[in-house]
Amino acid sequence: MYNSEEMSLFSARAQKGLCSHAYIVDGVNGIGKLDFALYCAQTILCTEHNRPCGYCNQCRKVINGDHPDIFIIGKDKNPLIDDVREIIRRSNLKPNDGEKQVFIICNGNKLNSVSQNALLKIIEEPPQSVVIFLLTESRSSLLPTVLSRGQRVHLDGMRESEIEPLLRKKYPAAEDVDIKRALVAGAGNFGKASKYLSKESVSLREKVEKLILCAISGDNFGVSSLIIVPNHTRDGLRNFLQAFTDYVTELQKQKYGVKDAYITANGRLLAINKRALAYMSEVAFNGMMALENSANVNAVKSKFTLDLLRAAKK
Ligand SMILES: [Zn+2]
Repeated sequence: MYNSEEMSLFSARAQKGLCSHAYIVDGVNGIGKLDFALYCAQTILCTEHNRPCGYCNQCRKVINGDHPDIFIIGKDKNPLIDDVREIIRRSNLKPNDGEKQVFIICNGNKLNSVSQNALLKIIEEPPQSVVIFLLTESRSSLLPTVLSRGQRVHLDGMRESEIEPLLRKKYPAAEDVDIKRALVAGAGNFGKASKYLSKESVSLREKVEKLILCAISGDNFGVSSLIIVPNHTRDGLRNFLQAFTDYVTELQKQKYGVKDAYITANGRLLAINKRALAYMSEVAFNGMMALENSANVNAVKSKFTLDLLRAAKK
């Protein structure tokens, strides 16, 4: 996926309850506008603390593409006036599942002025439970009245096909599978993708993987030798917890296991319960929050160790 910066910005604001009722998302064809809108929808509908958790019922429905409160128009064809009318009709209904309904209008630049004027009604005064994403390749094809009613999000992430050759040039020895992972981690950002393949990141990920393996096998000594023993600075610990979170997120996204994710360790495939992963991710999140609130580094380390061992048993 691309546009990771805009995504984290959106979830940070949503977490603080700063969600607008209408967004106008613009960017060239193929940049990932629909993915972005779906990510936002997931963040809005997720019921967990660290949104989007990727694990709760709501998140799963969004990921599976069958959430009853997300309605998309104009995806494979141009949006028509009847589609807009259907949105208006639905907006007066209560959400099926949660507190919000999310309407996503693709190809907004193909809406004619009659349709845009109809849309204006709902964008101007939407019901409390409605959030609208209007996706467009150009802002100039939208009426000024429509433009003025939505919050602007501009997407300009690079395409994977643009980033990949740059990565191969910089890391000629990198394996295909790692290049692929870097592209996912970079999410349209070359700097991020490149950092993923750096020596420093690779060694950090190895430590994180070791830590997770120790935690799930109940190896208290191993966990403590990776967390308690090293002399982490505040920034060092924050980086470690961030790498931990990224690694867990990557595992949670694995598609081939429903309940479990898999790590290859010493040539063996090891299953990790996704529920435990969700707890682990929360434990790391709490650790980072504690660091933000300037808790003592050693205290954060001890608490993280205890909570991690507990989470791994879930
Ligand atoms: Zn969720």
